[in-house]
Amino acid sequence: MTEKMPYRVLLYYKYVPIEDAESFKDEHLKFCKELGLKGRIIVAGEGINGTVSGTFEQTEAYMDHMKSDSRFADMVYKIDEVEEHAFKKMFVRHKKELVTWRLEDDVDPNVTTGKRLKPKEFYEALQQEDVIVIDGRNYYEYDIGHFRGAIRPEVTASRDFPKWVRENLADHKDKKILTYCTGGIRCEKFSGFLLKEGFTDVSQLEGGIVTYGKDEDVQGRLWDGKCYVFDERISVPVNRTEEDVIIAKCYYCGKTEDRYVNCANPECNRQHVCCEECEPKVKRSCTDECREHPRNRFQEELKSTQS
Ligand SMILES: [Zn+2]
Ligand SMILES: [Zn+2]
Repeated sequence: MTEKMPYRVLLYYKYVPIEDAESFKDEHLKFCKELGLKGRIIVAGEGINGTVSGTFEQTEAYMDHMKSDSRFADMVYKIDEVEEHAFKKMFVRHKKELVTWRLEDDVDPNVTTGKRLKPKEFYEALQQEDVIVIDGRNYYEYDIGHFRGAIRPEVTASRDFPKWVRENLADHKDKKILTYCTGGIRCEKFSGFLLKEGFTDVSQLEGGIVTYGKDEDVQGRLWDGKCYVFDERISVPVNRTEEDVIIAKCYYCGKTEDRYVNCANPECNRQHVCCEECEPKVKRSCTDECREHPRNRFQEELKSTQS
């Protein structure tokens, strides 16, 4: 028996109209701070998207509060138990879109979206012949882990997807398309975009990779590597079977490794894979320039961990 961990991370979203998102944001921030939560929440006229961490009681109180609001009553939460807060601060931001797509022709996922597949259905679809599996995330998320056989999108942001799709997949509009992302939110509009673009058979993984990894039947099968997450954990395991493998490589020495770090140059901050042996050798800096940067944090951090 593993002991219950004291904190939890909640991952959730819902596309639902929020009137006066600006004042909703202010109230929501105040509420979250009073509860003692930490994390990042985006509020837009089209809905809410958040990842927060807190104690069992704090996260329960948050979900109870949201359930009492008819707009969010049926919102789905992916819950992970963790040892400590996964964020340093609490942010609630008001943005135009929950995910920045900037589509010429915006998609309302409550109207146009791909077929939603449960983990088991997605697992079965993955094994069909002649399917195209598109990773709906950025290439650096793909590189630390992805579904076996999925296409690596050459994009660094969601708004680059339309161009990439038009340049690379235009000849495959009649194929069966499967998309997936971390928690499902990016596929909501992405799969809708693909439908509007003329793709005829588009399905998305409901609840995303995180839900897939928790499913008792599939146990994360056909996933290689880890799942990149946007909090201090950096990545979480998905495949719970013996076929769990590490696929990322140390940026410096090339050995198999899935340890992500930030470049010690505060102006670079680039996230990259770095093994424990290379870290001191390269001062955790991705280029010579970063290593020589006057405000390089590496020595500083070393001192503070040793004292
Ligand atoms: Zn290395
Ligand atoms: Zn750097």
